[in-house]
Amino acid sequence: MARIYNFSAGPSILPLPALEEAQRELVEYKSTGMSLIEMSHRGKIYDEVHNEAIALIKEILQVPDEYAILFIQGGATLQFGMIPIAFLGSGKIADFIITGTWAKKAYEDAKLIGQAQIIWDGSSERYTRIPSQSELRFSSNAEYVHICSNETIDGIQWQTMPDTGGKPLIVDMSSDIMSRPVDWNTVSMLFAGTQKNLAPAGMALVIIKKQLLEKARKDIPVYLRYDVHAKENSLYNTPPTFTVWMTTLTLRWIQSIGGLPEIEKRRDQKATMLYSAIDASNGYYRCPVEKNSRSKMNVVWRLPDETLEEKFVKEAEKAGLSGLQGHRSVGGLRASLYNAMPVEGVKALIDFMNNFMQRNG
Ligand SMILES: *Cc1c(COP(=O)(O)O)cnc(C)c1O
Repeated sequence: MARIYNFSAGPSILPLPALEEAQRELVEYKSTGMSLIEMSHRGKIYDEVHNEAIALIKEILQVPDEYAILFIQGGATLQFGMIPIAFLGSGKIADFIITGTWAKKAYEDAKLIGQAQIIWDGSSERYTRIPSQSELRFSSNAEYVHICSNETIDGIQWQTMPDTGGKPLIVDMSSDIMSRPVDWNTVSMLFAGTQKNLAPAGMALVIIKKQLLEKARKDIPVYLRYDVHAKENSLYNTPPTFTVWMTTLTLRWIQSIGGLPEIEKRRDQKATMLYSAIDASNGYYRCPVEKNSRSKMNVVWRLPDETLEEKFVKEAEKAGLSGLQGHRSVGGLRASLYNAMPVEGVKALIDFMNNFMQRNG
């Protein structure tokens, strides 16, 4: 077996022990004579896997009892629409902080449903920084404030959550979920497509304060109702059982290496190494992002010109470093350093970068 270093932004690298366990158990799950993904989602065996995923999320992220943990299909994108449908409606206001591509997409869906207000927009600065608290003026009557904690495409990340003065803060954590603790004093709801740092594609993890959930609209199609998903423990209809199972296996791996503290240690080590290599290249490699807004999950950088960038991606691929092309909307290079990326992968990338610079400098 020759696994390469996969730096793709999503779907993305998963922990090898989780993949291996799924492989071992795929055809026959724990002597039951069938695969877990062939079983009823109402049976005892699936139920255990489902509830273990929820219990591990609660434990690792220290989710307080006042929050519901939900699995909802449709990825993060469905949440862009489902949140305003649940909480906005005509005449109701929500505040949006546009830090990049993903916050903007959420805003565009919300404005179809209610009054979505942009209270800060980084587009004129090409999304190279997170705003400071003093730049933010929240609407006094906002139902909620929407932010994206880590802009996967633009490579910027909120280091701490903004203080909304008590308005519910809803956070798209698709690309930094399970890489950092959540400040439950400020976050009323978070959601994350699973395919970045948790599992294969197929659903979003949603964690929502029960107090907020009570306010969600009920006169809408049933799948869009947060209260129904919560009441039925995300088993109102058939959940994506394979994705839930893989989530459980990934979370077990996180626990086995020492939980969130160890994840954070490795995350900081990997990000520091890569940014240091970029900064030490005398401008050959250049990160466009302001230093204190740099993402620890998705590192973006440029080369002197686009021809060199193309060459870099091609040669890196040959060297077993895959998925380094920046998003098609922004170009450049991007390395996603999700939890499952080993430190050795980042070392191999840096060796390649130094070598490439010597040959093409
Ligand atoms: C990938 C991503 C999305 C979209 O997720 P889907 O699951 O594909 O809908 C939304 N927000 C962020 C921050 C992302 O990285």
